[in-house]
Amino acid sequence: MKYIFDNDLHIHSQLSLCSGNPEQTPERILQYAKENGVKTLCLTDHFWDETVPGASGWYAKQNSTWISAWGEMPKDDEVRFLFGVETDMDKFMTVGMAKENYDKYDFVVIPTTHLHMMDFTLNPEDNSIESRAELWVKRLDALLSKDIPFHKIGIAHLACRLIKGGLDDSAYVKILDLIKDEDMERLFTKAAKLGCGIELNQSDMALRVGEEESVLRMFRIAKKCGCKFYCGSDAHSPGYFDNTKRIMERAIDLLDLCEDDKFHI
Ligand SMILES: [Zn+2]
Ligand SMILES: [Zn+2]
Repeated sequence: MKYIFDNDLHIHSQLSLCSGNPEQTPERILQYAKENGVKTLCLTDHFWDETVPGASGWYAKQNSTWISAWGEMPKDDEVRFLFGVETDMDKFMTVGMAKENYDKYDFVVIPTTHLHMMDFTLNPEDNSIESRAELWVKRLDALLSKDIPFHKIGIAHLACRLIKGGLDDSAYVKILDLIKDEDMERLFTKAAKLGCGIELNQSDMALRVGEEESVLRMFRIAKKCGCKFYCGSDAHSPGYFDNTKRIMERAIDLLDLCEDDKFHI
């Protein structure tokens, strides 16, 4: 049976400093879910645990008090509305969530591709396309080597454009194409064994002309390795929701995903 688009486990509210959109509230997010047949939702505002030293200036404000300002998520008969976070991993491979605090969240999204945060996620000398491709491998490898509860962890936007942060636009595809199949196979085999989710991110899956195969390759390999997938609009404002279902359903078709390929939380 074909994968049904019925989950969105990566969504920001106005609490994320890169959103700040007053219309992006839990109620508005729930409305989107009901209009689009989404049965499992997770709010994942940007977060760095205040008990983990090393937050960047941008992350420091987005601590547990800040992201908990909404209180309980809205209740609904048709939609399960979970409360999670999107944390990060710095250049020392430290994850911004203390081990004992995973219990406080339903789901934790961790990106390895936020390479636009110079000095925080990467060293200024990591500025060639070769070093960015190496970092894709090294950072995913480091994350998958952590002792963390992978059954409630999602690996966010692995084909994110932020991987080229600071480099020109054409670097994006070049970086993706430099990552070797064998590295992807090794890492996705490990991810499948650990049981984490692999994200189909709306922006990654927008698939601009000329980028389709470069983006889809890693997800085809992940599927072959037995990884399970969840959807993430990564919405920062209600405008994103106009395209989520269409983009996700196209990605599901292109990757030929079935219900067995779905990550469940
Ligand atoms: Zn992100
Ligand atoms: Zn995000």
